[in-house]
Amino acid sequence: MDEGSRSEFDLIGRFFADLGAFRADVLLGVGDDCALLEVPAGLSLAVSIDTLVAGIHFFHDCDAEAVGHKSLAVGLSDLAAMGAAPAWATLALTLPERDDDWLAAFARGFGDLARTYGVRLVGGDTTRGPLSVTVQVHGLVRHAAAVRRDGARPGDIVWVSGTLGDAGLVLRLLREGGPVDPALRARLERPVPRVALGTALRGIATAMIDLSDGLAGDLGHILAASGVGAEIDLAALPLSHAVASRIASEGDWSLPLSSGDDYELCFCAPSEHAALIVSMAAGLGCALTAVGRIRAEPGLILKGPGGVPMRLSSTGYDHFSNNT
Ligand code: ADP
Ligand code: MG
Repeated sequence: MDEGSRSEFDLIGRFFADLGAFRADVLLGVGDDCALLEVPAGLSLAVSIDTLVAGIHFFHDCDAEAVGHKSLAVGLSDLAAMGAAPAWATLALTLPERDDDWLAAFARGFGDLARTYGVRLVGGDTTRGPLSVTVQVHGLVRHAAAVRRDGARPGDIVWVSGTLGDAGLVLRLLREGGPVDPALRARLERPVPRVALGTALRGIATAMIDLSDGLAGDLGHILAASGVGAEIDLAALPLSHAVASRIASEGDWSLPLSSGDDYELCFCAPSEHAALIVSMAAGLGCALTAVGRIRAEPGLILKGPGGVPMRLSSTGYDHFSNNT
């Protein structure tokens, strides 16, 4: 064994061999050629993978604990959007050099979130190169109960969790070099995956997606997959005070509609479930807001304040035209 591989095994043993929740269904975890995992009879594996690259998906000087948190959170958000219960994760880490302080903080952020949602890190790969983090998540769901993108029906109400546009606002403020309130900054760097909401919506939501690229685009994926259209009422969008005041001062709706990284859930459900959904919000500790309705006619109609239809301009999402 050469010096390099000795230090790689030492690094894995030190930071990644015992990360996340204990799970009895992990027959063999980190340390062998493969992990061995037991999928209960009758359940399907829900699998999703995401890569975060330094300088593209997070700032080079971003707090390592936040990078660890977010690299797992984005995957858990995908599982939530499918109605799957999180179970296992694998981690491919590319590092320019070994930095134990960075690794300890990264492992803390990853491990704390993993334990919160009962996830075990069961394997991975460690290589040298420009800083990037790839996490694959594995969840469990009954095939028939998984909430896909293609089930929205005309008349369904469109709902979103939490508030929209906060992460996009933080990114703007950081680029402008201004101060950012820590609680607001956490909306970009430490998104809370809506895991309990996602699984609670099995059997209630007809279609669901997590908001990684903004409501207009992500709801557009549901509309395309389901072969329907939708009408969204901008005045109904749930906004933090910070985002609402930015919109009021600039007249620009792109933050809640087309900025990324919110990791809230957008879902559709028949109107008879509305009271049940409203009552779920309190128990889950996250706001659930009806923002529009599914229509049979394709296309996304945005109704501005006062009910005036607006549309996304061809040059981008930041300018709207009142003459549809
Ligand atoms: P192999 O060469 O057989 O692929 P590796 O030397 O890459 O094995 O990894 C040794 C063990 O450590 C494997 O079980 C692998 O899953 C695990 N591992 C490697 N890197 C990580 C990591 N960053 N996080 C978690 N487990 C890791
Ligand atoms: Mg390997």
